[in-house]
Amino acid sequence: TTTRDRKEVRDYIRTIADFPHEGILFRDVTTLFADPRGFRMAVDQMIHAWAGQQIDRVVGLEARGFILGGAIAHQLSLGFVPIRKKGKLPATTIAESYTLEYGEAVVEIHDDAIRPGEKVLLVDDLLATGGTAAAGIRLVERLGGSVMGCGFVVDLPDLGGRAKLEALGMDVHAICA
Ligand code: AMP
Repeated sequence: TTTRDRKEVRDYIRTIADFPHEGILFRDVTTLFADPRGFRMAVDQMIHAWAGQQIDRVVGLEARGFILGGAIAHQLSLGFVPIRKKGKLPATTIAESYTLEYGEAVVEIHDDAIRPGEKVLLVDDLLATGGTAAAGIRLVERLGGSVMGCGFVVDLPDLGGRAKLEALGMDVHAICA
């Protein structure tokens, strides 16, 4: 076994200090996505976490959640639904806003993208405060779907996202902290 073969998902993620603001340690998953072995490991591990559970649809959060969610949906032969930043989706949408460190953000979903009763896996690259994922959960639930789980590559537990999502009754899984 070579050293390369022992690399785990976390070893493929690059950390950039002070991006996009001073004091932020940005977890750059582009280096994970760019590596064929790393990308497959990440997608396979995210899928493995929900083995045996019924999933009807995969919903990804813009933008890195699209890359993971698309691969997961394809592997499971499921459909993929994007949650996008305001103004990007062309058909009729519903919107939810949430607070950011500075100001607020709005995310949208097509109002016909989820059918009532569908079990949804919500996917993004990283869980920080949980604000983005919580807004995504509200969108899915407003369309009558139920979020059966939230999957991430990275969880930064000190920022409270996991606690916030678990308080909403969510099953949260991340590959690394
Ligand atoms: P939050 O809503 O606070 O949980 O933030 C999660 C969203 O912001 C995800 O879409 C992440 O891609 C992005 N994000 C937040 N903090 C970081 C970080 N330190 N490194 C990379 N992405 C981050």
